[in-house]
Amino acid sequence: MASKQGMAVALSELQGFTDADERLEQYATDSDIAAELLWHAHMNGALDGKKVLDLGAGTGILAVGAAVMGAREVVAVEKDEAAIEILKKNLLLFENTESVRVAEGDVKGFFEEGEVVVMNPPFGTKERHADRVFLEKATSLAPIIYTIHKATTKRFVHSFCTDAKLRITWEQNRSFPLKASMRHHKQERKDIEVTLFRLEKVVSF
Ligand code: SAH
Repeated sequence: MASKQGMAVALSELQGFTDADERLEQYATDSDIAAELLWHAHMNGALDGKKVLDLGAGTGILAVGAAVMGAREVVAVEKDEAAIEILKKNLLLFENTESVRVAEGDVKGFFEEGEVVVMNPPFGTKERHADRVFLEKATSLAPIIYTIHKATTKRFVHSFCTDAKLRITWEQNRSFPLKASMRHHKQERKDIEVTLFRLEKVVSF
């Protein structure tokens, strides 16, 4: 894909969650936000030829985008079977997605290393510290992490990074349109503020 905008348009074709599970905080990343994150990764050489891990891959927008941008291998880790079904259908909508492999299960039980993590993890609003679990896992598996968090938890992300010896090399606030995918959603669309991050392990000698 030749531009960030082109990527956003292409990714908007993907199917999101049909009956999202509230406890798992299943919110498919909006295609503009996914393109923002993936384009930054692309421009920094973090996708082409790389082994990429998508933790909590859901319906697969980040995994598909990474594959299309030339990742050598993408592992989509997801524990929800219904989401995986949709992810597999989404893979068929694009060329060059043979590099995507699904690892079904909880991220806590996933131990395969990669070169880059891309993730939009649970924000930790339903299950306390769900976001921490994902950050810890990502830190243990790859030196470069692209991740999305609720803007109100930004301070937590900063203190996590200090403790985990991660440097924040990019940070951007965006409005995240939550589509009405869950039964308790009454409004058709509601925006929440999120922050996109690129984190890098600090190498010490
Ligand atoms: N990354 C996707 C989905 C975001 S929603 C996207 O950007 O669109 C968060 C996803 O994490 C959901 O699909 C949920 O099922 C999954 N998830 C939550 N806790 C998990 C866990 N412990 N292990 C694996 N997947 C988990």
